[in-house]
Amino acid sequence: MRVGVLALQGDVREHVAALESLGAEAVKVRRPEELEGLDGLVIPGGESTAIDKLARAFGVSEPLRRKIAEGFPVYGSCAGMILLADEIADPTEDLAGRPQESFGGLDITVRRNAFGRQRESFETDLDFKDIDQSGGPVHAVFIRGPWVERVGESVEVLAEVDPQHASHTATLGGQSRIVAVRSGNLLATSFHPEVTGERRVHELFIRMIKGEA
Ligand code: GLN
Repeated sequence: MRVGVLALQGDVREHVAALESLGAEAVKVRRPEELEGLDGLVIPGGESTAIDKLARAFGVSEPLRRKIAEGFPVYGSCAGMILLADEIADPTEDLAGRPQESFGGLDITVRRNAFGRQRESFETDLDFKDIDQSGGPVHAVFIRGPWVERVGESVEVLAEVDPQHASHTATLGGQSRIVAVRSGNLLATSFHPEVTGERRVHELFIRMIKGEA
């Protein structure tokens, strides 16, 4: 199995390591032609505006958009979730006043930096659907991550942050927030499983590619 990691900006190395530890061949993708011959793609965490801009500059945006529409499996973590979202609640503009774009494909609306600033980064345990939790809940690290404010009918919610368990009671306003979703061949998490040695989310993605999940 060959899985690409979009390698324009962000924590590419961590995703490569996660995929390789599960026996997949991980391929760094920067150019459109490198999208060919892959079974799936991971869009890493980082900065969604930077990845968007570089993807346009490298000519990867349009071909990737097309492939996603054709059913190409993609997993996006954090900035990657933002880039898969059909709608960004609060897109930033570049110096030319051009709003940030996403590749889209996932019928969700995301809010960037929803949990607060960098220093409000936090960790929590999640009850995560479609994942075997006999080894314990999924430990999730949030670093200026988005949350999902709207999900379309085709979208399945896999995990929510329980305000009781987060250090973010005030931000969450006593409400749980959606932080993992899937729809068709697309999977997205607000958090970074790749930085903690958590492998079950990547494993779920590989099972999705194989048609086993
Ligand atoms: N806040 C970042 C963005 O908007 C995402 C942060 C991350 O990927 N850790 O792109």
